[in-house]
Amino acid sequence: MSNPPPSPAASRTVRCYHCREVFDVPPKAMSISCPWCYKRVTLDDIVVKDTCMQSRVQTCGRLLVHRKGSIVASIIEAMQGIEILGHAEGAITSGGPVLIGPKARVKGDVTAPSIWMEPGAVIESGYFKIIGPDRLAKGPSRPPEPPAPIVCTANDRPPVVVPAWKPVLRR
Ligand SMILES: [Zn+2]
Repeated sequence: MSNPPPSPAASRTVRCYHCREVFDVPPKAMSISCPWCYKRVTLDDIVVKDTCMQSRVQTCGRLLVHRKGSIVASIIEAMQGIEILGHAEGAITSGGPVLIGPKARVKGDVTAPSIWMEPGAVIESGYFKIIGPDRLAKGPSRPPEPPAPIVCTANDRPPVVVPAWKPVLRR
């Protein structure tokens, strides 16, 4: 008999914004020391409802900028996603999807696995990069490994062998 899998509420998996390593934290913890780099990390969501000016705004959770909120920081980083309905200015990095609402105003580079922008949003300047969270600040990933051939067997039919995948495009 194997142990039952841990329930999803038992812990939460986060990615450290200093060293990009992944670890589990208690679900209600608000900040913790990263077990990989020993630096303190913020875990809870950051909600910006009015003006917020700081040098760095970073969390392992999400960043939510309300319609009347304004965030100006040299580094804006949220590992689980960013939602901007108001104003955001700075180098924005997200480990999750970025949503830019119809009345939003954004100035600065945005790096995220996906960016959704509503019509009406204003981008004053910036360079957008779509990149997976596992590749943030870690350089290029290795090319994907071709999967092994798959052998399918049906009851009374001969086995079907799917040939190994070969890259079509030459580098
Ligand atoms: Zn760390």
